[in-house]
Amino acid sequence: MCRSCQQNPHLNPSHFEGAGDPALEVTHQDLQWNDYRSSISGMRFFDPHVHMVSRTTDDYQAMYDAGIVALIEPSFWVGQPRTGLSTFKDYYNSLIGWERFRSSQFGIRHYCTIGLNSREANNEVLAEQVMEILPLYAYKEGVVGIGEIGFDDQTALEEKYYRAQLELAKSARLPVQVHTPHRDKKRGTERSMSIALEHGVDPGWVVIDHNNEETVKSVLDQGFWAAFTIYPFTKMGNERMVKVVEQYGSERIMINSAADWGISDPLAVPKTAALMKARGISDEAIRKVTYQNAIDAFALSGQIDVADFEQGKDIDQNQKFFGNSILRGGQQPRVARNSIFIS
Ligand SMILES: [Zn+2]
Repeated sequence: MCRSCQQNPHLNPSHFEGAGDPALEVTHQDLQWNDYRSSISGMRFFDPHVHMVSRTTDDYQAMYDAGIVALIEPSFWVGQPRTGLSTFKDYYNSLIGWERFRSSQFGIRHYCTIGLNSREANNEVLAEQVMEILPLYAYKEGVVGIGEIGFDDQTALEEKYYRAQLELAKSARLPVQVHTPHRDKKRGTERSMSIALEHGVDPGWVVIDHNNEETVKSVLDQGFWAAFTIYPFTKMGNERMVKVVEQYGSERIMINSAADWGISDPLAVPKTAALMKARGISDEAIRKVTYQNAIDAFALSGQIDVADFEQGKDIDQNQKFFGNSILRGGQQPRVARNSIFIS
């Protein structure tokens, strides 16, 4: 039994794998986020996969407070099927427009990747129409890749539109952000990589996302970037992530939250940095997997200038986007968010 959180190691086998190693004798209770924030203060983070359109202003504020200076919002499945082309257009417009503005109002530089997600690739009539408009967005400012694309159920239509979008990435000279399936992940990951190679895409331009211990070795061995999503309660928790970095080092590995409309944590990147620090991973390795590697991969687009965010961004919440601001009537820009009074 964990002396702090009373978890039974038989129910959670990962929980006690490090027992006996003094460096790992940190209990869940010891690792309260507020206590550990000071250990990473001054560090900067880049979350290369987070769906801010589904998140609140509180999330933006908390991300900024935790040191996230820039992020990438991939195009994704919004939780229910879209019924027509115009909802795709509006969504892409929000990624390069309103959401980028909203992010700027919290001091975070916002980039995005544009793509047709794998689930909706299965609606062929609509997918054909979406493919026609994608080039209009791929060349826009702040678009740092084609993504997230790849496989979900591993159907023939998913493959067809994955291939078509690899060609688009090549002609637009953009990196590719590949979503790997949650079911039959190993096969889907291998298939995603071999198709990219078949299309002549340089693996150094491809970020394979949602890796786990089963897929990481092959991804790195073949020269791709390996991204890891930290999921609360399931799959890839951050204790497992620390072990991956201990085993494979910090080259070509990056960490993201993939926070969206489901149960997810937009602070997954800084929290994992704090846990890595507590477990004795070097500051330089932490910097690479939570900041620099994502920048190096997506800067291949020519769209990332670190001068835009490395010193933090000026925040002026009085700014407007097409006449609309994030402030409601009479509101003042927030400054003291730790107060319990809401005034
Ligand atoms: Zn995603």
